[in-house]
Amino acid sequence: MAMKKVLLHICCGICSSWAIEKLKIDGFQVCGFFYNPNIQPEEEYFKRLAVAQKVAEFHRIELLAGKYDPDKWQQEVKGRENDPEGGKRCLVCFHFRLKETFRKAVELGIEHFTTTLTISPHKNFEVIKNIGSSLSPEGFLAYNFKKEDGFKKSNKFCREHELYRQNYCGCLYSRISL
Ligand code: SF4
Repeated sequence: MAMKKVLLHICCGICSSWAIEKLKIDGFQVCGFFYNPNIQPEEEYFKRLAVAQKVAEFHRIELLAGKYDPDKWQQEVKGRENDPEGGKRCLVCFHFRLKETFRKAVELGIEHFTTTLTISPHKNFEVIKNIGSSLSPEGFLAYNFKKEDGFKKSNKFCREHELYRQNYCGCLYSRISL
């Protein structure tokens, strides 16, 4: 029987380690998709991409990178620059990244998609689930990677492999609010 496939949106390498493992345990063939035009500055984007590549190599999965187009992302969140982290700007940001992940999954003929975003203790699972399901109720896999100590496991992996760990979410607004 052919293996089930999933396109995993990867927000950063650290968050991906447990998510990849969990999906593999559940019988999925995982393809990673690093799509994060929200990350600024550019240097930081490439640092995080490099970590995601290391983690993908470790888990022996394919990793694709979407287009880095921060101007497009900026247009999308226009007017929401001053929203607090966790507010409406973040909903737009999640939707922006998941929409492209869904589009990519369809392009690649991959039936399912999901995201590492749910592992963060700062991000609400229900909110992300609703966005993913609104894009495709059948295609989106509502994994809450916080479960089973997912965040702790990811941190442990990061320490053991001495991976670079960022201290802000991604956009410049989240950096300023530190
Ligand atoms: S704080 Fe994080 S989730 Fe919210 S808009 Fe910025 S990068 Fe996106």
